[in-house]
Amino acid sequence: MTILAPKHIREIAPYQGGKPITELAREMGLRIEDIVKLASNENPLGISPKAEYAIQEALLDIARYPDGNSFALRDAVSKKFEVAPNQIVFGNGSNDILELAARAYLTSDSETIYSQHAFAVYPLVTQATGATGIVVPAKDFGHDLPAMLAAVTAKTRIIFVANPNNPTGTLLGKDELYAFLKQVPKHVLVVLDEAYDEYLPPAYKSVAISWLNEFDNLIISRTFSKAYGLAGLRIGFGLCHAAIADMMNRVRQPFNVNSIAQAAAVASLADDDFVARSYALNQAGMAQLTQGLEKLGIEYIPSFANFISIKVGDAADYNQKLLKNGVIVRPIANYEMPEYLRVSIGLFSENAKFLDVLEKIIKQS
Ligand SMILES: *Cc1c(COP(=O)(O)O)cnc(C)c1O
Repeated sequence: MTILAPKHIREIAPYQGGKPITELAREMGLRIEDIVKLASNENPLGISPKAEYAIQEALLDIARYPDGNSFALRDAVSKKFEVAPNQIVFGNGSNDILELAARAYLTSDSETIYSQHAFAVYPLVTQATGATGIVVPAKDFGHDLPAMLAAVTAKTRIIFVANPNNPTGTLLGKDELYAFLKQVPKHVLVVLDEAYDEYLPPAYKSVAISWLNEFDNLIISRTFSKAYGLAGLRIGFGLCHAAIADMMNRVRQPFNVNSIAQAAAVASLADDDFVARSYALNQAGMAQLTQGLEKLGIEYIPSFANFISIKVGDAADYNQKLLKNGVIVRPIANYEMPEYLRVSIGLFSENAKFLDVLEKIIKQS
């Protein structure tokens, strides 16, 4: 190959997703129904029945381009989250929002800041623009906000904060976060990634949307991929000052969110019951897993999300053994956590299978 991509592109490490069930079935000769996937923080309940109906309806019209402005969904999000319609940007998943922020505001001279052990997409979207990512060492597996502030330079344009963080499940307190925002210089945007907010107990839920009037350098990103279960449809949104939304919309592809996703998202927002059931199942599953792990003497990082990272030592070896037994979890060596596996909370029976196989592996070693 004689055409070389620019150096900053060649240096990007490819994103490693969870292994698809069909791939493991092929590799190990397992039956699909014998495989449990707890690797991508997906909703084990699937999607809202209301969304399912909306998808069937939307299918009838897919010869048409989608509404490039997501009018109906914009209206629904605006009412539900009490923000003006021009403060909302829709993305092909919330990863798209992260990328739109990067494309709108970074040049090859810029720097971004994110935490060690934070979501892998922050370095990806930074590097794609040729900007430089500054990694700030984590504190107790979470974000060290004072250290992140101290890393700000004249070149800093974006600080990414995941709350709760993936893959560690750590949560920053509201006061801490608010004090941080107060101190961030005005030439720096803060992208606050709240992909797991729906899984937080009421007392911990984010109030960052109410801070948007005060901080015109804040972008809050939300997704339909987790508690709403629409991971395969790819839809998320950003909430921010209208001037920022305007810039992000300029670099957005005109039809980045497909019509089925828009319809499903509108219906999902109207189904609080489904989100409540997803939350309750996650709480019960988290208790089931942490109790099981304690019984097995396995250390874990207490998590506020729909997954938990556990310390097993040789995680690559554990991962192989789990795969052989039809259980897919996520090794996170690429997050500088080679001794850990990240396990998504599944259905009761899926969590039970994971714990059973884990016990078997421990006893054999
Ligand atoms: C899963 C996840 C997302 C969601 O990504 P989508 O593109 O919306 O599917 C965003 N941020 C974090 C930290 C995540 O773990």
